Amino acid sequence: MHCPYCGHEDSKVTDSRNAENGIRRRRECTRCGLRFTTYERVQSTALLIAKRDGRREDYNREKLSNSVRTACTKRPIPNRDMEKLVEDIEGELQKLGNAEIRSTSIGEMVMERLRKMDRVAYVRFASVYRDFQDLESFEEVVRDLRDEPDQLALLEGTPPPAQPRRRGRRANEQAQTRSSEG
Ligand SMILES: [Zn+2]
Repeated sequence: MHCPYCGHEDSKVTDSRNAENGIRRRRECTRCGLRFTTYERVQSTALLIAKRDGRREDYNREKLSNSVRTACTKRPIPNRDMEKLVEDIEGELQKLGNAEIRSTSIGEMVMERLRKMDRVAYVRFASVYRDFQDLESFEEVVRDLRDEPDQLALLEGTPPPAQPRRRGRRANEQAQTRSSEG
């Protein structure tokens, strides 16, 4: 950090405190002795997302925002609530202060918030996010909805995700038998 008065490269920190979304530092130039203030914060655009397949990509707010919107399609959720959700997550990412974050962590953050906001949006998001790689994860989500029959009916009105087949149904019945025995 160059001194804004004389351009000298070296300064010492005289005070350091947490400011909104970052750290505020008072500095003193070691050459001219004048003081200046710097703010340090993690830039959300500088975040790297580590994907499940091992690839890395830049954090992209649009992408996050679009996935939330898609999940909320035709649900009674105001735009500002969706915006707020994305902002919340960015705030949390900044607080974590990591340069790199797993895509699964962001997925969990979205699910955690959608779950409180709207169950249907939550299940939609969870279905895309988890890719229904196994039937269990789908059942897990559906099980969560059993106490809310209205929303479950809505869910069942949507086309089934990629995997469920006849075998899946049998597995489901077996799982229920097993759980009632235990
Ligand atoms: Zn200076």
